[in-house]
Amino acid sequence: MATWRITLLRCALLSSPPPPFFQSSSFSTPIQRSQLKRSLVKCSSLSKGEPTSSTRIQSEIPKGGRISSWKPMCLYHTQGKCTKMDDPLHLEKFSHSCSVELGGTVPGLKNSRAQKFDYFLVLDLEGKVEILEFPVLLFDAKTMDVVDVFHRFVRPTRMTEKRINEYIEGKYGRFGVDRVWHDTAIKFEDVIEQFESWLRKERDGHIRLWREDGDGHLNEAAFVTCGNWDLKTKIPQQCEVAGMKLPPYFMEWSNLKDIYLNFYNRRAPGMLSMMRELGIPQLGSHHLGIDDSKNIARVLQRLLTDGALVQITAKRSPGSPHIVRFLFQNRIK
Ligand SMILES: [Zn+2]
Repeated sequence: MATWRITLLRCALLSSPPPPFFQSSSFSTPIQRSQLKRSLVKCSSLSKGEPTSSTRIQSEIPKGGRISSWKPMCLYHTQGKCTKMDDPLHLEKFSHSCSVELGGTVPGLKNSRAQKFDYFLVLDLEGKVEILEFPVLLFDAKTMDVVDVFHRFVRPTRMTEKRINEYIEGKYGRFGVDRVWHDTAIKFEDVIEQFESWLRKERDGHIRLWREDGDGHLNEAAFVTCGNWDLKTKIPQQCEVAGMKLPPYFMEWSNLKDIYLNFYNRRAPGMLSMMRELGIPQLGSHHLGIDDSKNIARVLQRLLTDGALVQITAKRSPGSPHIVRFLFQNRIK
């Protein structure tokens, strides 16, 4: 497959006409975007805060591809802190939409099947030593698009300021988003508290994805990750660092790599290989959590439209949460 990584200055993105239409679907027939009930509305859970603009300048688009509407996400907006919603220049430069933005087309719906869950929570953490970024996309299984986002940068608690500055410069400086990280990062405990408020919001007029007084599990929703590391390993580690009990909604999840392997009967060990195999363009900055989550949501969208049943692949034992049971025999280890 031809390589499609090109570096693109933001100003070029804004001034150039859209490149030719990108089509590469080995599994289904593309249909017009308008044929799908897509949610191009602004993310619904956002509020206002300090005004500053993101400085992300690089992105990746497919060679010869057309992602005419693609722009870097406003990382203040994803965290409910954009105050420039009435600034046309800012809106032109940065995306304020949750949509997975596949461009002119999305895969056909002809093969899609009923799902056990109404919503998928696509999560892709960043941070090896401590969690630095906690992005969760709310993917609606009926409209096949992201309808809301919860995104926070997370401030480590067991590092000196000097170490944090070096760490953030190394990780986020290369994407040009270290300033927004410093402006917005909060402690993991506060992230979880805000995440739970977000989960308790009413969806579709009646569904609450989680209730504090319920059985602890998610309601009509499941976490979707790319690999088991995020929920099996990193969340419990960070809870321990924060001196918190593991929240009960982290007891089970769906690892998209296992769904992919069992549905297509082909191994793809990571997000990029799944995207390459499916001909899905990689957008944004790889290892920026919000961009990776969107790319994983694009893979999820394809699996659903091709007819895969996205179900739970890993569960913790209720009495011994550190023990994880894997439900698929055929899986990526
Ligand atoms: Zn903004």
